[in-house]
Amino acid sequence: MNFEYNEKTQALLEKLRAFMKDEVYPIEQEYIHAVENGKDRWKTPAMMQALKQKAREAGLWNLFLPEEYKPYGAGLTNAEYAPLCEEMGRVLFSSEIFNCSAPDTGNMEVLAKYGNEAQQEKWLVPLLNGEIRSAFAMTEPAVASSDATNIETSITRDGDEYVINGKKWYTSGAMNENCKIMVVMGKTDFDAPRHQQQSQILVPMDTKGVTIVRPMAAMGFYDEPIGHAEVLFENVRVPAENLLVGEGKGFEIAQGRLGPGRIHHCMRLIGCAQRALDMACERVESRIAFGKPLAKQQSIRETIAKMHCDIEQARLLTLKAADKMDRYGNKVSRDLIAAIKIVAPTMACNVIDDAIQMHGAAGTSQDFVLSAMYAYARTIKLADGPDQVHMMQLGRNLIADKNA
Ligand SMILES: Cc1cc2nc3c(=O)[nH]c(=O)nc-3n(C[C@H](O)[C@H](O)[C@H](O)COP(=O)(O)OP(=O)(O)OC[C@H]3O[C@@H](n4cnc5c(N)ncnc54)[C@H](O)[C@@H]3O)c2cc1C
Repeated sequence: MNFEYNEKTQALLEKLRAFMKDEVYPIEQEYIHAVENGKDRWKTPAMMQALKQKAREAGLWNLFLPEEYKPYGAGLTNAEYAPLCEEMGRVLFSSEIFNCSAPDTGNMEVLAKYGNEAQQEKWLVPLLNGEIRSAFAMTEPAVASSDATNIETSITRDGDEYVINGKKWYTSGAMNENCKIMVVMGKTDFDAPRHQQQSQILVPMDTKGVTIVRPMAAMGFYDEPIGHAEVLFENVRVPAENLLVGEGKGFEIAQGRLGPGRIHHCMRLIGCAQRALDMACERVESRIAFGKPLAKQQSIRETIAKMHCDIEQARLLTLKAADKMDRYGNKVSRDLIAAIKIVAPTMACNVIDDAIQMHGAAGTSQDFVLSAMYAYARTIKLADGPDQVHMMQLGRNLIADKNA
């Protein structure tokens, strides 16, 4: 067992840290201000494009795509990508700079793995180049979508086309003006066996019948300029060749995308939590209460120590899951992926909450990024499967394994 990052990872990490220090932290507040005060809240500020260009030139591009997708990605293993993704997680919008942000990463993996040549040419190439953005529409307001077999959106074959009807919400990314394509999950056969009813289909955003109803808030944040949309599909017609793989394969594709997507969220959350701890350590050194710096209070030191322990535990579990994915594949690693998806969001919520407390009122203010970080961490207890569903499945597997 070796706990050191290999040379390739260390070199990339050094480069990424330098990029974050020189290019990202200095403009963090400016970017947030530009988003909040721009004329169009769903338009990505111009500085993003310039940063993307620099990142690409620096070789910090598409780092998330593992070896199997070469020549598309950087060819890193999950374990090699983990500390890099963590570093990006320190600034909420920074993953996009390196073309490593959700939901594009999941959509690119789906297109690389399941798309045909024409679909890849039309959608994967511009996504890999960071020219467009994308969304994934599965969750529906009308049904408990944590059980994906419940979804009701219909995808009906009509000659050379499919006709889509339904309503989705929390479709992340769909508010952004640069979002050009949605991967939509619906049902092609309501009478088929439970896990063969679903299919996934590509729907360009400008297709007739697609209506953005409203942006959805997540803990009061609208996450501009990306956003989470409520989307109505009314007799939306797309060519039959927009279907991914084939009818009845939707569930299989969804499972395939969620493994890497889930662990990437955990990696980012570890970065978020680490930054919150770093900020807390600085704050308690400079803030004087009752005659001495907060840092000299025993309870503050204990909390700081506990924050560190919790982050380190989650980091090691993430790396163990990533390593198993690299060695044995995503399917065999499902229990460790579930375990870290249960652990990381709650860990991050608790650590960020402690950091907010140590900052006092400032921790809740617009001058610090902690409240937005907290909201992000809290929503990941729901997104990509609520904690309870992961616990239900992990518990079931563990009991079954013991009794096999
Ligand atoms: C910020 C954000 C971004 C999102 N982005 C996307 C996106 O891009 N695309 C997309 O399709 N969806 C997205 N989602 C939606 C997310 O995936 C769903 O909210 C999630 O799957 C839960 O579905 P639901 O909201 O319908 O909750 P429900 O299915 O109604 O479940 C409600 C609660 O019931 C509990 N529960 C469920 N099953 C069990 C069980 N077996 N045992 C015990 N308790 C249980 C859980 O606590 C769960 O939270 C996003 C959500 C958020 C908050």
